[in-house]
Amino acid sequence: MYDVAVIGSGYGGAVIAARLAPHARVLLVERGAWWRPGQFPEGLLGLARAHMGAHNPAGLWAMRLGAGTGLAFASAFGGSSAVNYGITAQPDDHAFAGWPLTAADLAPWFARVHATLGASADPRAERLGDQQVLDELEPGARVDLENTIDWDRCDQCGRCVPGCNRGAKRSLDRTYLALALDAGVELRLRTELLELARARDGYRLRLRATGAVSAGDWVPARRVVLAAGALGTLDLLHRSGLPLGPWFGQRMSLNGDGLAFLYDTRRRLSGHSGAPISTAARLRFTDDLGQPRTLMVMSGRVPRDAMRFTGAALATLLELLAARGERRRDRPAPTPGRWRRRLRDLVGVGEHGALSRTFMYKLDGQDGARGTARFTGGGAVIDWPDYARDPIMQLAAARLRRWAEQIGGVVVPDVATLPGMRSFSVHPLGGCRLGRDLGDGVVDDLGRPFDPRGGLHPGLRVADGSIVRGSLGVPPSLTIAALAERIADDLIREVAQARAAP
Ligand SMILES: Cc1cc2nc3c(=O)[nH]c(=O)nc-3n(C[C@H](O)[C@H](O)[C@H](O)COP(=O)(O)OP(=O)(O)OC[C@H]3O[C@@H](n4cnc5c(N)ncnc54)[C@H](O)[C@@H]3O)c2cc1C
Ligand code: SF4
Repeated sequence: MYDVAVIGSGYGGAVIAARLAPHARVLLVERGAWWRPGQFPEGLLGLARAHMGAHNPAGLWAMRLGAGTGLAFASAFGGSSAVNYGITAQPDDHAFAGWPLTAADLAPWFARVHATLGASADPRAERLGDQQVLDELEPGARVDLENTIDWDRCDQCGRCVPGCNRGAKRSLDRTYLALALDAGVELRLRTELLELARARDGYRLRLRATGAVSAGDWVPARRVVLAAGALGTLDLLHRSGLPLGPWFGQRMSLNGDGLAFLYDTRRRLSGHSGAPISTAARLRFTDDLGQPRTLMVMSGRVPRDAMRFTGAALATLLELLAARGERRRDRPAPTPGRWRRRLRDLVGVGEHGALSRTFMYKLDGQDGARGTARFTGGGAVIDWPDYARDPIMQLAAARLRRWAEQIGGVVVPDVATLPGMRSFSVHPLGGCRLGRDLGDGVVDDLGRPFDPRGGLHPGLRVADGSIVRGSLGVPPSLTIAALAERIADDLIREVAQARAAP
């Protein structure tokens, strides 16, 4: 009998496993594989092969499509830390308005996560050229990001997203999960939780090798922490049939996620290389209801080995949009110089191509959290048909247009704003939002689900992106981990009390 079974090894699960393992018998279950440097996919073909599906159930990444939304996530030891940029950012205090806890309540946990993850700023960031451009465009708003990267090992290939083959990224398998393994956590990799059932003294978990056709085996645990990511946890709770309140699957956020380009501007990037996203402008504004909100515009690079493809894709997209009569106003006169630069991108003479004057902006912002979960045969998806009309997306588009007036170039907007297209997000949040009571949320501030029949579901916690209440406006990993640290601290107390009880 395990004291605690943790499902999922992303930012929530890794923290819980690391902190509980020295105090309790802990089982950690992860559906995905342990991807190590050298094994991550290379090129488009490699990415296609690593896709998780019926042919490859322990694949690295997957996508789910809802009405108006597309969501990408990873399935791996370390969750999405295996494929992310490792940006570690704390939200503005106003992001916690309406939460059952404040930024001050979370401050010690933010500090603890920060110390464990060891994030730091890119010492070479100043040479990349993005900082100077952001200073010109948004004086005083620039922030230097911190990433969980060993900068002396990083060769600036810019391929952090499919995974770092140089071993430069300090993903969770090198931080929290290494602590958990050292402390004796029992790990079941490539194993998925299929079913969760209440038992007299806790829960029974039906586990099975990922993708196998067997019935699996039942494992008992006194307590269960669901940390399978926002969509994974919604799937598991939905399948469990446990009664949950009216907020279950409601008011989900995409964290204002977007990707836009300022193409072929008058400013040049220094060097035509990729790099992790290391600098941003943190913009604050007031919405129609007088609420303060954040939009973070992060300046990134096209990965080195995707440059030809991206150059061709951006140039083609602009021509298509112009041919359809859209964005004609944004289209620059097709001078010989512009065509020469586009051609240079295609033949790989990067230093003088259009991409050497193109800024890639990853957007995170406080959206209105108006997504709704829908449960399909393939798992939970988020429906939010008019995401592109969310004020944060409009604000981002307006800013980019203003920037194009200042430094030239064409705005290639986020795909969500293009006709017939959907949003593409890597930050699904909520669905089991934190709340004061059943009328306000799905779980309390310590991740314990409310039971509509009264009280809380005993022995059950949720500790991942699904409990984040609304949009953070900055990349979410630090907040998810800080919430999990706070939950872990309470669980340690609970386990100790249970052991001391006669
Ligand atoms: C491409 C990309 C780039 C990103 N960049 C950043 C960034 O730079 N900074 C940042 O802060 N955030 C970033 N994010 C977002 C961040 O990584 C996620 O918000 C975070 O990982 C969510 O943590 P989590 O604990 O909720 O779940 P996850 O990290 O999603 O982990 C959940 C884990 O649970 C496992 N699981 C699911 N179902 C089951 C089951 N039934 N049984 C067993 N295991 C299961 C999954 O395989 C997965 O490994 C990025 C995300 C992506 C995809
Ligand atoms: S830029 Fe390349 S080397 Fe550096 S952390 Fe990202 S993937 Fe690794």
